Amino acid sequence: MNATGSSRIKNGIVDAIGNTPLIRLKKASEETGCDILGKAEFMNPGQSVKDRAALFIIQDAVKRGTLKPGGTIVEGTAGNTGIGLALVGNALGFRTVIVIPETQTQEKKDMLRLAGAELIEVPAVPYKDPNNYVKYSGRLAEELAEKEPNGAIWANQFDNVANREGHIQTTAPEIWEQTGGKVDGFICAVGTGGTLAGVAMGLREKKKDIVIGIADPMGAALYNYYAHGELKAEGTSITEGIGQGRITANLEGLSVDEPFQIPDEEALPVAFDLLEHEGLCLGSSSGVNVAGAIRLAKKMGPGHTIVTILCDYGTRYQSKMFNPAFLKEKGLPVPQWLDTK
Ligand code: PMP
Repeated sequence: MNATGSSRIKNGIVDAIGNTPLIRLKKASEETGCDILGKAEFMNPGQSVKDRAALFIIQDAVKRGTLKPGGTIVEGTAGNTGIGLALVGNALGFRTVIVIPETQTQEKKDMLRLAGAELIEVPAVPYKDPNNYVKYSGRLAEELAEKEPNGAIWANQFDNVANREGHIQTTAPEIWEQTGGKVDGFICAVGTGGTLAGVAMGLREKKKDIVIGIADPMGAALYNYYAHGELKAEGTSITEGIGQGRITANLEGLSVDEPFQIPDEEALPVAFDLLEHEGLCLGSSSGVNVAGAIRLAKKMGPGHTIVTILCDYGTRYQSKMFNPAFLKEKGLPVPQWLDTK
């Protein structure tokens, strides 16, 4: 991954991570009078923004000498980080063991198995529960480190700052270069916080007064934290991969100028519209991000350039957010074109 253009031959998939396009979102821009730009992270080899974190975490562990040739990478993930780790692991000769909450889509689980990851499904319980997928994966990594002939590491994406370093070193400079430095605001949702904190820190190095927003789904605690200083969650969301209840190591040191809370009823129609009218097939967290970018644009006023993240590809969620029966069961809006399918 480097900044020397996309036309040369890539030396394997590792080299094809990053340097994603920045796409002007037509309706969002017209509606707000701003330039709303989406960083097309679904165009990474693993079809999500998490390829960057996976690569940086692996490279960092190799550099430190904790991940040895033929070693095993263990991680708790909503899916996308696992897919990135599995693909990069295959390319570099590491085995992956992935712990995933059973509530995540079948499509992501199928992709993980297809990529050769060993998959362990656990009940979706809160972080404070010792059987939470993150804690489970940490314990499993310790066990495997003893047992595996080539050792094992815990990727620990939530509290391993190699994750946000990937965005400081690649995503932020790419956005800066692609906009020619004309970027007034950046906003996205948080899973680990690697993307938001890393891009914010990287862009603030170039432009101190850039406005940083967070688009927080319902059920997460960060909106209340950044707006009122209190980690407090309310409501629920069908989004996957985002929604955090604590200040992870990746979020430490981040200041947020504009916090927004984005309900599914607002985010999903944005994602549906992007597919129907702009041909962008995206997951629900991208809907939260673009809805957040629209809110930030309205707050900042016309004439600004606001960047957000198009996190992953929509086919990963066909059984949920693009499934009329699922949406109806959750009492969520079903777009007309989808209802006729
Ligand atoms: N969207 C999706 C679909 C994801 O899987 C994730 C990562 N879990 C995110 C957004 C959030 O990214 P980050 O972990 O960098 O906060």
